[in-house]
Formats: sequence, C-alpha cells, structure tokens
Amino acid sequence: MSTRKRPSLDSFTWPIFVEACGSRCSCCGESNVKFEHGHVIPYRLGSSESLDNLIPVCRRCNAKHKKLETPVTFRPADYLERFSILFLERLRPQLSSYTANGFCYLISSSEHAENKHVISWRNAENGIQNSLITRSSDTLTRREAERIVESLVTAARRKLPLPIPYGPTKTSIINLAVQHGRKKFELAAEGFMAVDWSMPGMPDSVQRDCWPQFVDGFNLFLRSGEVHRANVERRKKRDAEEKLKQDEVNRESRAREAELVAKRVAASDVLKRYAQPLTGKSWRLNREKLLPFAERYKFFEAQLAKARTLTELQLVHDTVSQAYDSMQARLADDPGEVA
Ligand SMILES: [Zn+2]
Repeated sequence: MSTRKRPSLDSFTWPIFVEACGSRCSCCGESNVKFEHGHVIPYRLGSSESLDNLIPVCRRCNAKHKKLETPVTFRPADYLERFSILFLERLRPQLSSYTANGFCYLISSSEHAENKHVISWRNAENGIQNSLITRSSDTLTRREAERIVESLVTAARRKLPLPIPYGPTKTSIINLAVQHGRKKFELAAEGFMAVDWSMPGMPDSVQRDCWPQFVDGFNLFLRSGEVHRANVERRKKRDAEEKLKQDEVNRESRAREAELVAKRVAASDVLKRYAQPLTGKSWRLNREKLLPFAERYKFFEAQLAKARTLTELQLVHDTVSQAYDSMQARLADDPGEVA
C-alpha cells in the first residue's frame, strides 16, 4: 500500500487529456468505450501521475496490464501539444497570460490550474510554446474540426447565396476535415470561400449546390484553391501592367505639362517684351506710333490667358512676336525718336 497521496486529473482536465490522446484507448485503439485513468508504468511501481505516464485506457486493457507496463500504441505523437492547446483554450476566459523566452506562462486563480502536481506551467517541458498556440499540429480532433467547420459555415453565411449546410452534410464535412488533416482541409476551405460564386465561368451546378459538392468533391475545392491562387496571380500581374501603363501615361502627361509651361513662359516673355516700349519714356516719345500696338496689348493678354493647348500658346507667341517686330519696324521709321 502506497503512502504517497495519489493525485489525479480532475473532472475538468481529464476529458481534455482524453481528447488530446485521440479519444481512444491508448493501448488497443478502441474508441467507443468508457475510459479509465491508466498508467504506462503502474503507479504502485513508483511512477508518477505526470502527463507522459497517464493514458486513457479501456477497462479491458487496464485490467490486463495492471501489474506491468502498458504498451502505448495509439496515443498521438503530439498529444502533449494537443493537450496544451486544448487546455489553454478551455481555460482562457479565466486566465491572464504573459510570454517570455518563447513560452507562454499562465497566471491563474482558476481551480483547474491547481493541478500543479501534473502540470507545471512554469516548467519549460510543459510550458506552452507560442508556436503551439498557433497550432502547428496537422491532425484535427473531432471537436477542432467541428469548430473549423462552424467558422466556415459562419463565413459562408455572410457570403450568401451559398446554401448553408446542415445535419448530415455538415457531419460529412467535419468527417472530411478529420480525415484530411488541418492543412489540406483549410487549404480547400480557403479555396472554397475564395471562389467568386457569381463568376460566369463557374459551373451552375457548383453555384447551386456547393456544400454537397464540397462533400462529394473535396478535390474540386482543392482545385478551386489553385484556381483562386491563379486568379490572384493573374490579378497581380494585370495590376502591375496597369500600373506600368499608368506610370507611362503619367510620365507623358508630366512631360506634356512641362512643355505647356515652357511654351506659356515663352509666350509671356514675348508679351513682356512687347509691353516694354509701351511704358515710360518710350511711350511718351512715341505715343502716336505706339497707340495701335497699345490697343492690341489687352487682346494679346486675354489670348494668352485663354490659351490652353500648345497650338494656342504657339499662336499667341507667334502673333505677339510678329506684332513686336512690326512695332519695332514702326519705331525704326524715325530712329531719332526711339529711346
Ligand atoms: Zn483498450
């Protein structure tokens, strides 16, 4: 008779551990049975109640291996990770956590975290690596699969007119998830959700009845995932080309803009030159000769302000230049009077 006080997982923790172990007898793999708290090395031989020594076993196996080590054949290799994830998920509402050195520590007043003899959260061995919280495991428990399918359905609901799966269809989808593992299923689900259901190229049958198709043709959706990725690639390529073209257009329009500005400056310089003799001493001395040119100045100014195109600006430029030349010629008629 052992004198050690025998601890054990409580009614909150035990079902989580059973789920993490795949909800089957770790010894014979039987799943539709009531599980007993089993030990790999019998407790009475001095082993501990630590997670690696605990196993869910059926009554038959437990009885059969009471005295010696129980062969563990059906416990998933990542059962500790799965347990950590599941346990954390169930506890989260009652917990606060902080991370350090890549581990997530839990500070809790929860009674369930009082299984300190079993779960030493501050111990690196049992501490939960951050990467585990983001689920590195590809295997899905049924409950995880249910949750994923549930969120898929919720997302699909927002994306009507998808028919919403129910009853047997939903169960089949959950089965698919468990059967194919997380990565493959999530990939297909992503493709499934990404399909533009109003897409003209999409077969009517798919648009009409996509959930049964999901069940019947998992590969269809794996393909649609590829179609989706191909579409994304094509869209990216098209956007890049579009941008290149737009840049070209912008460059051209900037060049055109610069040309316009230069032309306007040139025309306005000519006009300034034209205005020069119309002021000051020159104006006083040659008023009679300059009057017709002065009268045209306002007109030129208005033409320049109105000009928008290169041709219009060029026209103003040339007209003013010509007028300037004839003004100079007019003034030259009597050189003595030019200032
Ligand atoms: Zn068994």
